Amino acid sequence: MNVVEVRPDLRMVLDSGPGQAYLLRRGPEVVLVDTGIAGQGDAIAAALRGWGLDRESLTHVVLTHWHPDHVGSAAELAKWPDVQIWAHRGDAPIIRGDSYGSLPTLTHAEEGFYAHIAGSIPDAPPSRIDRELDDDEVLDVIGARVLSLPGHTHGSIALHFPDEAVLFTGDVATWQQGQVILGPFNHDRPKARESFRRFADIDVDVVCFGHGEPLRGDDTAQLRAAATADEVPDPLG
Ligand SMILES: [Zn+2]
Repeated sequence: MNVVEVRPDLRMVLDSGPGQAYLLRRGPEVVLVDTGIAGQGDAIAAALRGWGLDRESLTHVVLTHWHPDHVGSAAELAKWPDVQIWAHRGDAPIIRGDSYGSLPTLTHAEEGFYAHIAGSIPDAPPSRIDRELDDDEVLDVIGARVLSLPGHTHGSIALHFPDEAVLFTGDVATWQQGQVILGPFNHDRPKARESFRRFADIDVDVVCFGHGEPLRGDDTAQLRAAATADEVPDPLG
């Protein structure tokens, strides 16, 4: 288990696989963005304990999309006492186990990488979803704005917390080898590229990716630069 303090109110929880989750503390609300792979309940509880909090303190889990390295522990966390689990309506039926997600359309460059990673991620047990999020909905309770960014999956979202000046990109963007790039393994790559462009006018202090290190301060300009580049940075495309 590995907890990284990004900012006093923001922690990243790394799992033993490719997944990672983020805890954001804002007043009485403690929001977890994504959950990592299955089996992360104890790690997330330990990260809360570092703040002097316990399982009862977690109020919201917001899932950026249905992939098992993001929703793997949602079913486990759904059993905690006061937590609500939210996801976009496009992916909610898959997370609940009511329908199957399709495999991504892989580019040639992605095939080997995918074979290597996909085999290492355990299936995500189906989870309850308490609220289905709409396109670009404002979530007053947690002070966040949903950015509806289809392409990686049908119901992929990013979450923008304007008061905290934090953006969670999900897998629409990723940080790899010193570069902000389009996230790999997309269900509809042209649409994912279009969605990536929406990061052009996001001005925040911290950018948290679904994979890779967060960007802070002036470095967050790299996301805007990537989103406004002549071509979306897509080394695996
Ligand atoms: Zn994904």
